[in-house]
Amino acid sequence: MKKLFIIGNWKSNETTPEVEKWFTEITNAQLAFKIDEKQVVICPPFTLLSKVKELINQKNLSFSVGAQDISPFGQGAYTGEENVNQIKEFADYVIVGHSERRKNFSETNEIISQKVRKAIEGNLKPIFCVQGVETPIPQGIEIVAYEPVSAIGTGKPDTPEDAENVARIIKEKNGVQFVLYGGSVTDENVTDFTKLPSVDGVLVGGASLDAEKFSIIIKNS
Ligand code: PEP
Repeated sequence: MKKLFIIGNWKSNETTPEVEKWFTEITNAQLAFKIDEKQVVICPPFTLLSKVKELINQKNLSFSVGAQDISPFGQGAYTGEENVNQIKEFADYVIVGHSERRKNFSETNEIISQKVRKAIEGNLKPIFCVQGVETPIPQGIEIVAYEPVSAIGTGKPDTPEDAENVARIIKEKNGVQFVLYGGSVTDENVTDFTKLPSVDGVLVGGASLDAEKFSIIIKNS
């Protein structure tokens, strides 16, 4: 049985009271899965990394924590940035190369590669987002998320056939170990993607904010 990654990207959402409610609800869902079969990673905004880590421990959940970004620099005079050592205090994963960062923050392939380098040097696992088979994938990447821009937040997911083809090509071309699919994944369509032979899980945006839906995504995957 292949290992599946179920990653929740909360983007710029959630506050402390909301996250407490989310964790009460997800705990009530009584999820039971083996860590070697499913790896659930919650990626909150920086302000909630510590709280999410605390709640995972408190509620005894087999979840990991991921950040949504990383500084391309180390420690020092970089106002507003969080470096790898700061993130490592709370997280084991980091999303890099998301299309929203490329579009809204003008992140280039060069900056993205620098971020990947910093993450790997600091022992943080990058979840590297690509928009298609043409996106260059830096050295050392083990987890890629294929996220076509037309599918993100639109309610119009890619077809499973397309997702399978792209995942297979990415693996063949780059020797990447895990390829996930992301873009309008819901509790209703998650199995269409997780059952694909070349797809190793899902990156979930909108639907991960709803604890009930996200728990069904975990159960159904
Ligand atoms: C995302 O932004 O990574 C994403 C997959 O969003 P959504 O699930 O909302 O389409």
